[in-house]
Amino acid sequence: MQNIYDVVVIGGGPAGMMSAGRAAENGRSVLLLEKNPGLGKKLLITGGGRCNVTNNKTEVRAMLSKYKGNDQFLFSAFAQFSAKDTLEFFNSRGLETKEENEGRIFPVTDSAKSVFDVLVKYMREGKVEVQTGVEVAELSVDTKTKNIVIKNKNGGDIIAASCILATGGISRPETGSTGEGFNWLKNLGHTIIENDFALVPVALSDTWAKKLGGVTLKDVKLTTFQNNQKQAMNKGSMMFTHFGMTGPLVLNMSKEIGELLKYGQVTAELDLFPSQDAGAFKKQLQELLAGEPNKKIKNVLSDIVSSALTDALLKIADINGDTKNNLVSADARKKLALLVKAIPLNISHLLGADKAVVSSGGVALPEVNFKTMQSRKIPNLYLVGDVLNIDRPSGGYSLQLCWTTGFVAGNSV
Ligand SMILES: Cc1cc2nc3c(=O)[nH]c(=O)nc-3n(C[C@H](O)[C@H](O)[C@H](O)COP(=O)(O)OP(=O)(O)OC[C@H]3O[C@@H](n4cnc5c(N)ncnc54)[C@H](O)[C@@H]3O)c2cc1C
Repeated sequence: MQNIYDVVVIGGGPAGMMSAGRAAENGRSVLLLEKNPGLGKKLLITGGGRCNVTNNKTEVRAMLSKYKGNDQFLFSAFAQFSAKDTLEFFNSRGLETKEENEGRIFPVTDSAKSVFDVLVKYMREGKVEVQTGVEVAELSVDTKTKNIVIKNKNGGDIIAASCILATGGISRPETGSTGEGFNWLKNLGHTIIENDFALVPVALSDTWAKKLGGVTLKDVKLTTFQNNQKQAMNKGSMMFTHFGMTGPLVLNMSKEIGELLKYGQVTAELDLFPSQDAGAFKKQLQELLAGEPNKKIKNVLSDIVSSALTDALLKIADINGDTKNNLVSADARKKLALLVKAIPLNISHLLGADKAVVSSGGVALPEVNFKTMQSRKIPNLYLVGDVLNIDRPSGGYSLQLCWTTGFVAGNSV
């Protein structure tokens, strides 16, 4: 006869790990399934790798005011596990924390790994069985027993008396959050609210860029960065506008940029010549200048870069445009060559989405009982973390939702 687990948690992110640990602490037999080779891939990159664990809103009402319009749903869950409980949970397990601007709480180690380690230890202490590299393909309910049947993509079914679904949302899919949980939930009768990330133009704070309104650039490459870490890269055409930039390349990257902006400053680099390296451009520039030794650099640069950009490039590179070509130093040539490959841009906000909260998408909240995190459609299914449609600002509020909903579900199964 097939083994039936008390609880199977699908998804090894923060919400899944917290719920698994708590259910095991309560004496349940718990299996956690994660499709990645390791747990917590997204958790480890949170807060630029430093992990903004929660926000110092220890008073429940103050915390709930941040989840606009959803406080009536969240109250019963937060009454069971609040930001104060989060701090106690981590601090009592040896993770020291510190408060930064706007009440953001970080581990003193400045390392998301130390948050991750606490959760792994918590699960280990409860003897949670963890299986990584297991991709769940489908969920269904056994009509006779009411058990949850979990189909492993590699073959075989896993049977659970209760299942906690912690497969996350759809942001940063490379971390494993690819949204298949939403398809299972739809098949089980749940309503899934689509997230409202639109394709929107991007506002820049660079004055020079705003002066280039109307200038279109074809076949360029845009790379985004946060905390000096490369985030996303794409090629295509774009246009500068009086507020910043738009065009297919920018619009297609706007969703990703919007996500990043929730967690801090975002910068970008514009590469005008993605198919050639800085050395090749330098050589071209050198030949151009040598061919017209008595002309001014500002009057010849447009032979190799868009004329609309020459003034801006010379300004950013701090080169006097009136310098005669034969007097342009090797250093200045090098500076220009590096610049055309990586023009720095400072992103201030998304146009039209410059509200502090971006809709997350996920399961409609009236379909969840927040006293237990139980689905109102499937009684032995529990929903936690980013699978829920809860708007929230940046500042540790997303992870707090994971700790709260994860704890409550783990406590209730
Ligand atoms: C760049 C970035 C920085 C962030 N920084 C912060 C921060 O500092 N503070 C904060 O509060 N929030 C932050 N967030 C948000 C926070 O990371 C999320 O809210 C949180 O990770 C959601 O946790 P989760 O457990 O619900 O889902 P996830 O962390 O998305 O985990 C879901 C897991 O389920 C697994 N999974 C999915 N499908 C399957 C399947 N079919 N079979 C098996 N396993 C599956 C995935 O591989 C994944 O490991 C950040 C988000 C991003 C993208």
